[in-house]
Amino acid sequence: MMCGITGTPGTGKSSVADELARRGYPVVRLEETVGGYVIGEDAKRDTRIIDEDRWAGEFTPVEGIVEGHLAHLLPCDRVVILRCRPDVLLDRLRSRGYSEGKCRENAEAEALDVCLIETLERHASKQVLELDTTGMTPARAADIIVDFLEGRIPASHGRIDWSDYLMGAV
Ligand code: ADP
Ligand code: MN
Repeated sequence: MMCGITGTPGTGKSSVADELARRGYPVVRLEETVGGYVIGEDAKRDTRIIDEDRWAGEFTPVEGIVEGHLAHLLPCDRVVILRCRPDVLLDRLRSRGYSEGKCRENAEAEALDVCLIETLERHASKQVLELDTTGMTPARAADIIVDFLEGRIPASHGRIDWSDYLMGAV
């Protein structure tokens, strides 16, 4: 089974993947696989441009977990979308030293459910678990992901509503 862990930057993908790797799950990091697919640099948005279609098309499926904000573009059997309340996400991203513009762009994408929408365009809802990591430790998030992968808890999504954080509210 291939399980993608996706989400807006700062939602805790790498932290939870570290925890799952410690527990023995094979983990592939998007960061380790996109090197050959960088097609430019968007200086204004302070981000690399990745040829996402070619990356996803050439990705060799794995038995285990793929962690990264494009993981939902892969033909995963399960997708976990990590979520984080936009104001908390903003703090996490600022403390990473990202530019203010990049912090706000990502907090807004989170408030707009961008990752969820992109995931549901490609995967059946029974494959998708949304998990709010706000105020949750990576260890607890890992427990829930393991329960989902092992069929102890059902898929679920669409219960998160962060529209209050739009329109300059964060
Ligand atoms: P991502 O890989 O999704 O960009 P990271 O795992 O790198 O996110 O986490 C982003 C920041 O948020 C890091 O500083 C990390 O320590 C912190 N963080 C991650 N998960 C949590 C959590 N569950 N609770 C609080 N802070 C967290
Ligand atoms: Mn990461």
